[in-house]
This record gives sequence, C-alpha cells and structure tokens, in this order.
Amino acid sequence: METGEIFRCLRRYLEAEREGGVYDYLFSSASKKIKMDLLQKTVSQCQRCPLSKTRKNIVFGEGNVNARLMFVGEAPGFEEDIEGRPFVGEAGRLLTDIIKAMGFKRDEVYICNILKCRPPNNRNPLPEEISMCIDYLYKQIDYIQPQIICGLGKFASQTLLATNNPITSMRGKWYDFKGIRFMPTYHPAYILRNPNEKKVVWQDMKKIMEELSRI
Ligand code: URA
Repeated sequence: METGEIFRCLRRYLEAEREGGVYDYLFSSASKKIKMDLLQKTVSQCQRCPLSKTRKNIVFGEGNVNARLMFVGEAPGFEEDIEGRPFVGEAGRLLTDIIKAMGFKRDEVYICNILKCRPPNNRNPLPEEISMCIDYLYKQIDYIQPQIICGLGKFASQTLLATNNPITSMRGKWYDFKGIRFMPTYHPAYILRNPNEKKVVWQDMKKIMEELSRI
C-alpha cells in the first residue's frame, strides 16, 4: 500500500471512531494538535443551537496548543464571524496590544470564546446557547492544559467560575478552574468604552506575568 493510501485509511478510521464518540479515549496519547483539529472539525459542523443558522463561520479559537496562557472571551462579533478568527476587530486589536505588552506574540498564547458562533447583532449570549456550546471550550482547556486562564469580561468569568458575582468584584483576583489558575479581568470592548479602566486591566496582566514567571 502506498503512503498516501495508508494516510487515507487512517483518516477514515479516525473519523469513524470520532463519529462513534470514542475519540477522547482513543486519542488519549495522541498529540494535542490532532485532537484540536478534530474538535475544530466537529465544531464546524455543529448545529446544536440556532446560531448555526445565522453564522457565516464558526470561530473556534487559535494560537499555541501548548500555550501557558489562554484568553477566553465572550462570543465572536461581526468581523470575527466573517474571518472565522477570534478577536480580530477593534477589541481584538486592543487584546493583541495587551498580549504584546505582556511580552508574548499573539500566536504564543491561545485565544478563544465561550460561544463559537456570533449572536445576531452582537447581543449577549443566552444561557441555553452557553450550555450547548460550553462543552467545546471545556475540551479545548482540557487539551491545552494552560497554566493560567484569563477570563475576558463578565460572561467568560461568570460562566467558567459558575458564579453570578459581578466582574467588578472578581477582576484582579485569583480563582481556580479545575486546578488551573484563573484571573478575571475586564473585556477589551469595555476598555474601549472606558479607557480609564485600561490601567486596571494592566494591573491584572502584571499579576498574570508575575505568576507565570513564578510557576
Ligand atoms: N469579543 C469577544 O468576546 N470575542 C471575540 O472574538 C471578539 C470580540
């Protein structure tokens, strides 16, 4: 059998296993990249909620699958929906600047959202949309195993910490998400509307940098 045919067979086999729902078990020792690519393929076909009808593209997430630091936002906006990439609009440019100011390249960290599809007119995610989508994020976190997760804004932080506490009281403090250090901060879109809060976010980022240099 030639190499190309071997790969095609292997791919058909893996896809069949994935459809059978056993790929977590099957791939426990496989590379994170393969698992992430398969998950992305699954998400690209997702029709669990009505957002699948209005999306142009899923916005799965991007970055280093071995990242020490992961940023989790809320949901794709207009530009993200068109490009299929997280945080590429105005708030995204601010996030990229923050990441660079922390001494990272954007592709050294991992960036994703609670929802993988854009809510129409950028409305807030609905609880039922979050509950149908959150499983994908849990898998991404499980595969990456970052040392620190930074929750960008109220939705990411409240969802992952399973609390209704306001972001104003949570930001800048350390929490635990399944054994991973979790730092809530304000969403970049909020900083764009309230530029005075930028320094507060920078304080939070400095805590993350200090922690990363310690662990
Ligand atoms: N806001 C988010 O929460 N996520 C994006 O990807 C873009 C804007």
